[in-house]
Amino acid sequence: MSDNTKHSFQTREVHDGVAPDPTTGAILTPIYQTTTYVQESVDRYMDKGYSYSRSGNPTVTALEEKITSLENGVGSACFATGMAATSATMMALLNHGDHCILSDVVYGGTHRLSTQVLSRFGVSFSFVDTSDPANVVQALRSETRLIFTETPANPTLKLTDIAAVSEIANEKTIPHVVDNTFLTPYFQRPLELGADISLHSTTKFIEGHNVSVGGSITANNEEMLESIKFVRNCLGSNMTPMVAFYTLQGCKTLSTRIQAQSENAARIADFLTTHSAVERVCYPGLDSFPQKELATRQASGFGSMLWFEVKGGVEAGKQLMNTLQLWSLAENLGSVESLVTHSVTMTHADMPREERMSAGITDGLVRLSTGLESAEDLISDLKQALDRL
Ligand code: PLP
Repeated sequence: MSDNTKHSFQTREVHDGVAPDPTTGAILTPIYQTTTYVQESVDRYMDKGYSYSRSGNPTVTALEEKITSLENGVGSACFATGMAATSATMMALLNHGDHCILSDVVYGGTHRLSTQVLSRFGVSFSFVDTSDPANVVQALRSETRLIFTETPANPTLKLTDIAAVSEIANEKTIPHVVDNTFLTPYFQRPLELGADISLHSTTKFIEGHNVSVGGSITANNEEMLESIKFVRNCLGSNMTPMVAFYTLQGCKTLSTRIQAQSENAARIADFLTTHSAVERVCYPGLDSFPQKELATRQASGFGSMLWFEVKGGVEAGKQLMNTLQLWSLAENLGSVESLVTHSVTMTHADMPREERMSAGITDGLVRLSTGLESAEDLISDLKQALDRL
């Protein structure tokens, strides 16, 4: 295993968490496809660290160690999905009667979990425009026990100042969880900015190839990590060894992929700003992005997500999405395949329209997740679709 203090991100993403198999020399950590682990004796229970794969599995451990190194945390826990990571984190950190502050723009599933499930168990949620830290201060209550932000937020790309919100949270000893799915630890490391937990849907950039759904959390302290692992075990939402294996391979090219995908996204954003059928374009790398200074200050890249609206409103937007050929119309993001998503009917369909509109998730918003194809081909497909409007 590489040394965190000596090696660069690119070396750690390849080597950390894994070592040649001690019995065969296999360079890849095997898929430990097993339910259980035979114990030496009753007195030496768990000597090798494992009892049952719901609680822990060596392939999953390898991935957890790799992600811990990349996020620069104390430890990680991997999950069956990103939503399993969010559910276990919220259930570990919140009790009946507690209050949680959430970014007003979050992935639709996080909104659904809060408003339609956890609220039934006596937890209250405030959806706050966390792009202004003063709003977080204003929303604090004596019973606030968790601040959960998503930055950049899905799908509007609104940013939260991680350091500023972490300072507010730390002062009150309230955990600050950051959903870091859109930028990954290559571009943004929330724990280094003062947050307590960095969360991922590993389904996205971390695995990156549209192969598997998964999730992870990385914590900055052992106690919080253990409480989340405890809930994971109770819920039975551990990642499977097969998914951990795929995700371990995806991690090795994370920096190369997200860098190249972001370069593609920047070129596509530039192209869209010049096309007469486009009403507006949002990409953190554009000078028109309202939080460009924050984007540059807290992350080392702008990512490969962008969105735009076309003239002619919703109908024109739908026509465009239906005429794209190289861009696949699909839910998901962060993969090597370029995807186009209509957030209102797909990822955020369960969010009430009024709330959606006030969060800036407009009916005509076309979300792009830029993949690894050639930028020329991606632009030419967008151009043929836009030219028809
Ligand atoms: N967080 C963000 C920002 C997401 O975009 C998603 C899914 O789209 C999730 C969490 C949930 O992840 P999963 O679909 O792996 O459950």
